[in-house]
Amino acid sequence: MTEPGPAVPPALHVRGVVLPDDEVRDLWLTPDRVSLAPVPGAVTVADRGFILPGLVDAHCHIGIAPGGAPVASADEARRLAAADRDAGVLAIRDAGSPYPYPQLDDDPDVPRLARAGRHVAPSKRYLRDIGVEVDAAEVPAAVAAQAAAGNGWVKLVGDWIDRDLGDLAPAWDADTLRAAVAAAHAAGVRATVHTFAEEAVEVVVRAGIDCVEHGTGLSLDLIDEMARRGTALVPTMLITTTFGAIADRAEPKFPAYARHMRTLRSRFPQVVRAAYEAGVPLYLGTDAGGGIDHGLAAEEALLLRELAGMPALDVLRAASWGAREWLGFPGLVEGGLPDLVVYDEDPRADVRVLRVPRHVILRGRVR
Ligand SMILES: [Zn+2]
Repeated sequence: MTEPGPAVPPALHVRGVVLPDDEVRDLWLTPDRVSLAPVPGAVTVADRGFILPGLVDAHCHIGIAPGGAPVASADEARRLAAADRDAGVLAIRDAGSPYPYPQLDDDPDVPRLARAGRHVAPSKRYLRDIGVEVDAAEVPAAVAAQAAAGNGWVKLVGDWIDRDLGDLAPAWDADTLRAAVAAAHAAGVRATVHTFAEEAVEVVVRAGIDCVEHGTGLSLDLIDEMARRGTALVPTMLITTTFGAIADRAEPKFPAYARHMRTLRSRFPQVVRAAYEAGVPLYLGTDAGGGIDHGLAAEEALLLRELAGMPALDVLRAASWGAREWLGFPGLVEGGLPDLVVYDEDPRADVRVLRVPRHVILRGRVR
């Protein structure tokens, strides 16, 4: 008699309307791939519904605990990621983590991860304990080190409040911002930047940054430049809904900053709409971690739909297949990655459908 080997999980079979192709299709999923041909012994999970290759939260922090401190362990990061996964998010771009967790890249319970290392931030101006804080001369070396710590991305903090000035201001001078982008590219990774205000984002977009986070200070001219260059925008509309509360708290000591934040917030839906219309590649990000809960991708989709006025199909592209392609995670094609979400109703008719995933399959396993 031979000992039984480790149990091989059965292949899964799913039938439904595959988006965006809008075709009823049968898919078979093994732990490592999608097959368009039947796999013997497969267990049928769903035989109707609407199928997406999972949502993507393109700005998420599983290394920052609720309240804003770094997570204490990889297990805590895993638990935060599970909240996103159960809401249908099967790929995450972690836009800066104070806790290193490279061991989660291939964790069966964790969504696909595109990761920056720690935020590269200006000294004594950014959120406490989150970034590596450096003066101008140290920026290129810090970028190179964080490029090595992540798996393809570097996150820069492009601007933040300057308490001496009483307003938002660039993290460093323009030459240093340009050197930061160049250092990321020299290290072979993509660079993205946190910006709220107008000045730093202008410099880094023209220096060839790959993506802008928030981007509340974008001008129409710069939006056209981003469209021309193919620079992505992750507008994180959820976090901008908190600008009013930030402004209220800051008002007594920093009235100019408070005024600036309110202005940025009120014009932002038009900024996102203009970026969409100009053809800037847009992706959905919640900025979960710290102040925003995990699992809110559907709420961000609703803001893109209702505040920015994006058509539902383009919201879904920004939230799913378009973002997977951008991050390098193949979807529901022969040999693609076996990740999908089934919804009972058509999310093209109403993006609120994204709130209620019927079946979540990650890495070929039902979750
Ligand atoms: Zn963030």
